[in-house]
Amino acid sequence: MPANVPARRGATGRRVLVLFFWAGLVLAVLPWWLATPAGSLSDTGAVTLAAGRIVGLVAGYVMLVQVLLMSRLRLLDRLAGEELMTRWHRDIGGALIVAVLGHMALILVGYGALDGFNPLVEARVLITGVPDMLTAFLSAGILTAVGLFSIRAVRNAMPYELWRWLHMSTYLVLYLSFGHQFSLGQQLFQPGVVRTGWLAAYVGVVVVLAYGRVIAPVFFNLRYRLRVADVVAEGPDTISIYLTGRRLDRLKLLGGQWFRFRFMGRGLWWQSHPFSVSAAKNGRWLRLTVKVVGAYTRELSELDSGGRVWAIGPRGSFTAAQRTAQRSLLIAGGIGITPIRAMLEELPPGATLIYRASTPADVVLQREIDWLARARDLDVWYVIGARTDPGPRQVMSPNGLRRLVPDLAGRDVWLCGPPGFVESAHKIVRRSGVPRKKIHLAAFEL
Ligand SMILES: Cc1cc2nc3c(=O)[nH]c(=O)nc-3n(C[C@H](O)[C@H](O)[C@H](O)COP(=O)(O)OP(=O)(O)OC[C@H]3O[C@@H](n4cnc5c(N)ncnc54)[C@H](O)[C@@H]3O)c2cc1C
Repeated sequence: MPANVPARRGATGRRVLVLFFWAGLVLAVLPWWLATPAGSLSDTGAVTLAAGRIVGLVAGYVMLVQVLLMSRLRLLDRLAGEELMTRWHRDIGGALIVAVLGHMALILVGYGALDGFNPLVEARVLITGVPDMLTAFLSAGILTAVGLFSIRAVRNAMPYELWRWLHMSTYLVLYLSFGHQFSLGQQLFQPGVVRTGWLAAYVGVVVVLAYGRVIAPVFFNLRYRLRVADVVAEGPDTISIYLTGRRLDRLKLLGGQWFRFRFMGRGLWWQSHPFSVSAAKNGRWLRLTVKVVGAYTRELSELDSGGRVWAIGPRGSFTAAQRTAQRSLLIAGGIGITPIRAMLEELPPGATLIYRASTPADVVLQREIDWLARARDLDVWYVIGARTDPGPRQVMSPNGLRRLVPDLAGRDVWLCGPPGFVESAHKIVRRSGVPRKKIHLAAFEL
């Protein structure tokens, strides 16, 4: 095996995290179980309240997990991979909103039954008469709004930066919901092991967040001091940006990973955008290859050499270390070629690449890919044309893929490109008989 093929990382890290998640959930609910004597749930009001408290504990715990998943801690990325954590964050997000609303509804119905009020009157009584309740209701409202804004159709209709800032308000939820858990939470308001443990979990998550989001990036950027070295046109609407820095030979980076880059100067410093590295680590420079799709990417072609770059990363588990088989099929859609181009240097030889592009002008880095094809024994198929053209339609079908790659079911399949492309290619690959665990996805979407 060539020296630059990284060692494989198995699924153990992911399994350990899943185990921790379920163990944490049991621990979160255990105090209620231990503190609730058998026979105390005698009437409907008490049962409803008990259900509300359990769901509240689950919601509090899931909230902490959500923040932890987005803490950018490298250890979590190594264990589960950024893509999986983003998926978990998305899936758990829906469950969290259901849990928070369920907790609210059950508590209002439960206390309402005890006090003889309907839930709406009970809500008014709680908000006006009980400390920390107003902030608790506010936090539930913010969380629900964040959830609604995260529905893909809603999200796509607003500028990304606006969506991101709205999404960040979840930190406010963490803060606003904190008080009522300790002043009113049946299991938490009394000093003791449970209260201390819950507090410790909060403090731990905040420390991890500060480390992952602030301290580690500051150290990274002080260490590597990235700057723009050159900007090169790759096609009519695609550029490559070369970055230099210090100690790049010590940077831990795998082909397929990406950074959030913030280019200082030229009025771009206030935005950071994710871009994959489009060449494997070489110790001297990093390269990203960018397709102009909007205002920000258009500005990048005007970057000055020498300009400072703030980077957060490297992130992502779409790398050769995640392979499960010796051979691979890689399918790139448009600019989705960038991480795949870098991975081609690190996957074992003998891979097949299908590069989908709408027009010949959309094919970038072709000379490098053809060179790599010779050096690393790759089969490369450029599949050019609209989705509805007979050629691309034929290749991008279960039969077409099997014809091109007869041993497809035994290979790892790597898919990268815009979300719509990855989604439809994923379905085709699944229909062609490749097991789920052999399919690796990188949609250019966070
Ligand atoms: C993990 C990852 C790796 C990527 N790698 C590459 C790459 O190697 N080459 C490349 O050309 N593109 C890459 N992209 C896509 C690239 O980030 C967007 O095309 C770019 O941010 C668009 O910015 P814009 O303002 O010019 O366009 P807009 O028209 O404003 O945005 C187009 C779309 O890009 C996304 N987007 C916009 N701003 C951001 C942001 N700040 N953060 C995240 N997403 C945003 C949104 O989904 C938006 O709908 C990658 C995206 C992700 C998530």
